Amino acid sequence: MGNSKFVFVTGGVLSSVGKGSVTASIGKILQARGYEVTATKIDPYLNFDSGTMNPYMHGEVFVTEDGGETDLDIGSYERMLDRNVSKGHSITTGQIYWKVIEMERKGEFLGKCVQIIPHVTDEIKRRIVEAAENGKVDVSLVEVGGTVGDIEGAPFLEAARQLSLQLPARDTTFVHVALVPVLDSTGEAKSKPLQHSVQELRRIGIQPDIVIARTRNVLPGELRAKIALFASVPEDSVFSSPNLPSIYLLPESLDKQGLGSKVCEKLGLEDRKPDWRPWRRVVKPLMEPRYRVRISLVGKYAGLADSYMSVLEALRHAGGVCNAGVDVELVEAEELEESGASERLRASDGIIVPGGFGTRGAEGKVKAIEYARKRDVPFLGVCFGFQLSVVEFARNVALMGSANSTEVDPRTPYPVIDLMAEQKGIGSLGATMRLGASPVVVEKGTLAYKLYGREEIYERHRHRYEVNPSLKGRLVERGLRFSGYDRDGKRMEILELPGKFFFFATQYHPEFKSRPGRPDPAYYGFVKAALSKKLGMKALKVSRGFSYAASSAA
Ligand code: GLN
Repeated sequence: MGNSKFVFVTGGVLSSVGKGSVTASIGKILQARGYEVTATKIDPYLNFDSGTMNPYMHGEVFVTEDGGETDLDIGSYERMLDRNVSKGHSITTGQIYWKVIEMERKGEFLGKCVQIIPHVTDEIKRRIVEAAENGKVDVSLVEVGGTVGDIEGAPFLEAARQLSLQLPARDTTFVHVALVPVLDSTGEAKSKPLQHSVQELRRIGIQPDIVIARTRNVLPGELRAKIALFASVPEDSVFSSPNLPSIYLLPESLDKQGLGSKVCEKLGLEDRKPDWRPWRRVVKPLMEPRYRVRISLVGKYAGLADSYMSVLEALRHAGGVCNAGVDVELVEAEELEESGASERLRASDGIIVPGGFGTRGAEGKVKAIEYARKRDVPFLGVCFGFQLSVVEFARNVALMGSANSTEVDPRTPYPVIDLMAEQKGIGSLGATMRLGASPVVVEKGTLAYKLYGREEIYERHRHRYEVNPSLKGRLVERGLRFSGYDRDGKRMEILELPGKFFFFATQYHPEFKSRPGRPDPAYYGFVKAALSKKLGMKALKVSRGFSYAASSAA
């Protein structure tokens, strides 16, 4: 085992109380003190990974540099910590059981009866320690998804309990985050559910060291004292995670309450003076923008913003370096199929069609793209949005009748988007797409090159279909410019329409690499174009006053 220390974060009362934000914030607080940190998310469901889960129920599927399809919390860690997190940091019950059963089939348990304790818990501990990168980080944060008391979560909490006994005393600490609801009628904050969730934790042998109440406002002293008494922790170990305008304000809010010093004390780390200046430089432009732009996001899960979390974050980061707040309107693509696009999209400064799958809403997205192209509204297409831009151009400019993606219409006479050759014959859905970062060669003299400023970049992918190389000629003749390819020049990665103010689309997902203060150039170009056009500028001026993680390293 390495020498990393572990912070286990558990949740009580409800899920979705912002445990992920608290976990990422503790990481930021330690980073501000000069410590190296990383984070791991445990999802106690049986799915092997998030790849096959419906974004409408679970939020977006986040893709890591090494091609993991993970929970969106991994994205929050990457953005807050400005650090790539690899797929091994996303642990599920499915993965653990898979591995244990595989070992059993190989006879590795030497005839023993294979049990939850110790065999499953041993494998969980091995994965947790492995994700601490062999001791290369000072602190590894481990967020246990779900709520204390869930049957699925029990083996993970048991493993954490065992680790806390096996490692030296100051190497682990437990942080419990729970909702403190506020009654509508009296405005009173109630701590009873939190008290019960701490009792539940203690029942399984874990005494939290730190309790964080997720609540509307910072808790008054007397309520903190009450929580301390019932949770059996000192009063100075009770903190509040209040409602804030942005999660990027949470780390400093918690640190101001003393959380950083307390975590250092519990872990036996020197409580160095935190340097918040670099983080403030990143956060401030996000909070006080001079301009505002209105972006319409045309998708099929418009009812749940979490389905597009990284896209929304990437727009916000891009706004930050353009001094613009981005107001995003989520537009349900199917609505455009009935009513047409012009009415619904008239007020937009920019239109984005993000990634997606399947037939539902596809025609509405094509309508939005047609509207953007004809009215010269700044447009960004991502993955499915890229593919449907090709479809729209093929139909309406290259006059290829009912051109389509074979994903939407398998019998189209013009399959301008088709299954990638290596995908043919794959029947299984899990982890079978083209996934993760791979190199994209950017052609000189194009808008793409202006934005990225490099001939080769690494960007993250998640798709099965691609531009059909055999139908590309006619599209290019009619003015569609492919400005980025894979290394052997065969796979189309970026498209643009020269002569338009900003019409740009990528087969990859730029949003997964966007960080506060370091937006991905595609999103930057898009938001800058929307703002410039709104302010009446004649052409887009691109500045490169920010860094971008072109390679795989950061
Ligand atoms: N459905 C398309 C494909 O599989 C696009 C995927 C996506 O947008 N992530 O290629």
